[in-house]
Amino acid sequence: MDIKKLVKPNIRSLRAYQAKEIPCRIKLDANESPYGFKAFKSLKTNRYPDPEARALKKLIARDLKVKPEQILVGNGSDELIYYLIMTFGGPVLYPAPTFSMYGIISQALGEKKIEIPLDKNFDLDERAILKEIKKKKPKLIFLSSPNNPTGNSFSSKRILKIIKFTSSLAPPVKGRGPNGTLRPPSSIVVVDEAYQAFSGKKSFLPLLKKYKNLVVLNTFSKIGLAGLRVGYMTANTEIIEQSNKVRLPFNLNSLSQEITVKTLKNRKLLRSYIRTIVAERKKLLSGMKKIKDIRPYPSDANFILFKIYPVRNKNSNGAENADALHKKLLKQGVLIRNMQGIVDNCLRVTVGTPEENTIFLKNLKKLL
Ligand SMILES: *Cc1c(COP(=O)(O)O)cnc(C)c1O
Repeated sequence: MDIKKLVKPNIRSLRAYQAKEIPCRIKLDANESPYGFKAFKSLKTNRYPDPEARALKKLIARDLKVKPEQILVGNGSDELIYYLIMTFGGPVLYPAPTFSMYGIISQALGEKKIEIPLDKNFDLDERAILKEIKKKKPKLIFLSSPNNPTGNSFSSKRILKIIKFTSSLAPPVKGRGPNGTLRPPSSIVVVDEAYQAFSGKKSFLPLLKKYKNLVVLNTFSKIGLAGLRVGYMTANTEIIEQSNKVRLPFNLNSLSQEITVKTLKNRKLLRSYIRTIVAERKKLLSGMKKIKDIRPYPSDANFILFKIYPVRNKNSNGAENADALHKKLLKQGVLIRNMQGIVDNCLRVTVGTPEENTIFLKNLKKLL
């Protein structure tokens, strides 16, 4: 599969910025100040960060069992979404509702968006997606699984079908080619695994060996490092090299690199936090299921989406819709996300500490 052909022409001829690190006794080449502050032993604020984030990439690569050359780190995975769309351009296809940044960044970069509604189970509408791929030939396809804001994982069979269909391994389809057949158009498929750690489902990483058009996106934001802004994408080296061309040289600051490396060396703690969240999600869901007038949806992520059924009693001053309930919860000091306008009459609550979840449930019961 020729990834280069998928790259936008202006990027194809571009070369990545070279920030060489040359060992020296006195470093006077980068207009840095000689005076800095020592935040940590090895972190001097006056020096630029490692432009290649080598220590961090090495650790991530070891964890994922891939080569460091297969990884690109970003200032949050948001930045990597930006880079992917900048590199490959549009049309950009994704289901709806999903993570809003796919659409926002596409539009910011002037690329066409193709939004395909999810089916009634919040799963991918495979037929509609394959049809649109044939018709509109998207360069990029974003699939967040587990999906934000619905919380469910998409059927891996359907994701795989889409990856396969847009890869060089796809069988010919009916079309105006030789013998009345045509190879389906190639696309880069990005499986966004921001919530994968909470899901207990298999990652798509092992499929990188087989599918050259696959990108697996991930982030440390949802597992405790949101303030540091560290995301990473894993793909075959060609995709990484092409996307690396549009990366700003020092996109990941030294503090974020340093603390993430330290955190990764403490995996046990990271994992125990994830287990706690998953256990709390289960408790929260069963607590919510007991409340009349709402329907919580099962979740593979660290949040739960729930629908509010209109209160039938017109004399009731209970919360009759998502907007009202959202406001009333906030009045009690409980802030959750209002999904009204994105998912009909729905709210989304993030799994908190046991105490926070109890307070949320108590207020929810009281208000309904
Ligand atoms: C939160 C989120 C991201 C962005 O994560 P950052 O690394 O914080 O930029 C990406 N994808 C999905 C689906 C998310 O929910």
